[in-house]
Amino acid sequence: MRKKIVAGNWKMNTLPAEGVELAKAIAAGRDQVCECVHFIVCPPFTHLLPVHDALRGSGIVLGAQDCAAEAKGAYTGEVSAAMIAATGCRYVILGHSERRQYYGETAATLNRKMAQAYAEGLAPIYCVGENLEEREAGRHLEVVRTQIEEVVYRLTPEQFASLVIAYEPVWAIGTGKTATAEQAQEIHHYIREVLAARFGAAAEECSILYGGSCKPSNAAELFSRPDVDGGLIGGAALKADDFLAIGKGFAR
Ligand code: PEP
Repeated sequence: MRKKIVAGNWKMNTLPAEGVELAKAIAAGRDQVCECVHFIVCPPFTHLLPVHDALRGSGIVLGAQDCAAEAKGAYTGEVSAAMIAATGCRYVILGHSERRQYYGETAATLNRKMAQAYAEGLAPIYCVGENLEEREAGRHLEVVRTQIEEVVYRLTPEQFASLVIAYEPVWAIGTGKTATAEQAQEIHHYIREVLAARFGAAAEECSILYGGSCKPSNAAELFSRPDVDGGLIGGAALKADDFLAIGKGFAR
């Protein structure tokens, strides 16, 4: 049975004390949601240690939003996978469209980041997704296939076993527009086929999350589809009640 996951990407939001309050509120409401849901929160680097403490005993797991492509050394401003793992993180988001778009992250960079993450025992949440122009040109399947082939196909089967994929259509991120459940299912199913072509039956065990304006009002509909195993949540992850309500989108 693959994991049902609700992961919150806080992006560059909240000050540390606010992040701790948010984490505490999520932890306090955790028992309202089926134990079968695996919650992950991904705050900014500066909050990782205090948020880890705030989540202690809640079963909610910590993730980071990125990691460096190198192990250590003279890379001003970078944060290594080892530093992240030392804060208690278990996951790291890699290849988010904002990093690809604003920071020019290429497949070559992402391959190095993936290697660093695995070397430190972090499970990557690898993001793929097409932009509006690509969707309108009917190229969405081809775009996500390339994003998977260039990076995920290079993993070993052992590495693939802990990978999480997030399908995030760029046109739906932070825009209030959500892919329909049918659109999400179509592409999630396709992603699983692309994964199966390289990793065989293990593709059935890989959690594929939907991201892009997922909120309490549409989570249940999206999560009802057989290949949608949860969500990567941006805006709605900044309110504890909304984040928890998204988790309730999975039938108990
Ligand atoms: C995201 O950027 O990962 C995301 C899904 O954002 P939002 O939920 O705000 O669209």
